[in-house]
Amino acid sequence: MSKNEPVYIESVMCPVPIRDRGHIILGHGSGGKLSGDLIADLFLPPFDNPALRAGDDAGVVDANYCTQLAVSTDSHVVWPLFFPGGDIGKLAVCGTVNDVAMMGAVPQFLTAGFILEEGLEIGLLEKIVASMKDAAAEAGVQIIAGDTKVVERGKADGVYINTSGVGLMLPGTEIGGALARPGDVVIVSGTIGDHGIAVLGARGDLGFETDIQSDVAPLNHLVNAMLETSDNIHVMRDPTRGGVASTLNEIAKQSGVGIVLDEGAIPVQTAVRAACEMLGFDSLYIANEGKLLAIVAREDADAVVEVMRKTKYGEDAAIIGEVTAEPPGRVLMKTAIGSTRIVDVLMGEMLPRIC
Ligand code: MG
Repeated sequence: MSKNEPVYIESVMCPVPIRDRGHIILGHGSGGKLSGDLIADLFLPPFDNPALRAGDDAGVVDANYCTQLAVSTDSHVVWPLFFPGGDIGKLAVCGTVNDVAMMGAVPQFLTAGFILEEGLEIGLLEKIVASMKDAAAEAGVQIIAGDTKVVERGKADGVYINTSGVGLMLPGTEIGGALARPGDVVIVSGTIGDHGIAVLGARGDLGFETDIQSDVAPLNHLVNAMLETSDNIHVMRDPTRGGVASTLNEIAKQSGVGIVLDEGAIPVQTAVRAACEMLGFDSLYIANEGKLLAIVAREDADAVVEVMRKTKYGEDAAIIGEVTAEPPGRVLMKTAIGSTRIVDVLMGEMLPRIC
């Protein structure tokens, strides 16, 4: 073994690197612990500022004395480019729209940067762009700037797309990962794990046929409905890479609170549950692209869930847990058989290039 080769220990979920400061490994893109460490150790110190340090889905800044902007950026490298329920173009628009919306901002404008591989069929690119157009129209955003680069055959994988987004903060809205309080409840907008399993199916990695569709969708209209219903939504975040488990761990740490989930209340499609059981995955760690988690004051929770269930992307919304004072920074799960287990952040990498 060479000096710089990572050393792995096998865990139930995935290989966990225990020593690798030398090179980027796939786990640095997982959205789990390694991604968080890379951000905290390498990116945050040189770029440090309050908006970045907040560690939320979008940076919120004062544009002038009366307007706040939420700004976010996201690169998309999903493989394959097309999968049941979506494609890289729809994902690129929805991913950034959702990150801006999670701050309680109204997404307005996107930019799109394309890295194209020599040899990509132009007809495929046209389909991807048409999909972006449709998703942007549904979200009510415009793509106002773009960039195209082409790299030699073999130096990329068809197309990668970066999108950045700008949204206007609704006046008086204060939402962030550090604002969860003991007594709040945790809401999920629908079934979890659909996107990750749909992409695995498209790769032929499931070993069986399913009709599971990705949930990729713009959530800004759902967010608007929620914000019109309650002034006590403290946190919103979309559980993409790393899944519900990693996202709730981030929030628990940011807010210094505990989160206790009720296993029986978490909505999971039967087909997704079956796929996870066969593959040895936990749906809590599977990526979602059209779901949000909200942490809401208990007194408003039922009204928020009710309004969510009336929207296109919130029909299966449910209360899945509560925020507690103890143990700070930890997520626990009350299981169906009455025991309690720790739900940790995703270690290593489970499904590379899922978004
Ligand atoms: Mg996000």
